[in-house]
Amino acid sequence: MNKRSFLKLIFSTTSLLFFSTFSLFASGHKRSGKGRGRGRSKKNKEGRGKPEREEFIGTPYQGKMYDAHAHITSKVSIKTYIEAYKNSTFDKAGLFTKSIKSKSLEKIKNKLGKNFFFFVDLHKREKSNYQFVKSRAKSLNMAKQKNLVHGVGELYYNLSFAPFAPQGIKTNYKSKSEIGILEKAAELKLPVFIHDEKFYEHQDLLDIVKKIPNLKVVLAHLGYIKSPRKVDKLLTNNKQIYTDLSLVTNSRFGPFKRKGLIIKRVPSKKWIEILEKHDDRILVGSDIGADVQRVKRLSKVANDYRILLSHLKKSSAEKIAYKNFEKLFSI
Ligand SMILES: [Zn+2]
Repeated sequence: MNKRSFLKLIFSTTSLLFFSTFSLFASGHKRSGKGRGRGRSKKNKEGRGKPEREEFIGTPYQGKMYDAHAHITSKVSIKTYIEAYKNSTFDKAGLFTKSIKSKSLEKIKNKLGKNFFFFVDLHKREKSNYQFVKSRAKSLNMAKQKNLVHGVGELYYNLSFAPFAPQGIKTNYKSKSEIGILEKAAELKLPVFIHDEKFYEHQDLLDIVKKIPNLKVVLAHLGYIKSPRKVDKLLTNNKQIYTDLSLVTNSRFGPFKRKGLIIKRVPSKKWIEILEKHDDRILVGSDIGADVQRVKRLSKVANDYRILLSHLKKSSAEKIAYKNFEKLFSI
């Protein structure tokens, strides 16, 4: 073999090796983005794959609609949130903020305008160090006095993943400090949002709630409960429990887009029955905010809710869309 053909051989073998490794990687990568639950890498797979989204012919719900579950983060500019809401059919929104001091809330409020309301958390959230902070309770008192806060949360009792806590969070909700947060919220007449992916197994949490008579709990994301029968039972037996439909109805982003939605935008008869039966204690929510990709999909999420609500009788649709929001957060 002469020098030239030797070099040629070396080149073709290495390039073959390179391309086969590359295509293996590429196909594996592609696969992990698709399919339900298979090979799920927990980081942002949003916007990929084909979720179930059935055709809809009809008139979507036309009334007012408020977003009861959204976050603002410093990673996304305030301007981007304002634009997103302007381009969506949500008229108002409740936003979870990291800020809790009156001064910073006032500053954000001035930028956002009158259609936005704040929900705040009493936990420290940096570096997965999720724990109650006494000084935040003091700030909450002040902010409430100035009417800058309308809710407490989102409290993470059982969370599998969040960008700020990739390992997930498990909180001892039976601890004195956690119960203290609920009592504080009840005293200030602020509803509490709880994110608990194991809510249905935590019956003792319902006992804690019952012992705080004025407490109202918004169980975020339908408490991850898939069964309509179980949701019905929970809401029938616990009048202090409200719930929001964020994520579990979302085919645009989030875990249920991948795993399959609990309630589709064209809901089953069973779900329609339950939504109408408990229409006083159900809210809609987008759960935007974790990153800019979610914020960009806000208008689509809003439109999907309008399709979903059009399947309910008008009085139920209006309660779930905005009347419960007005009542619960006293706006
Ligand atoms: Zn949540």
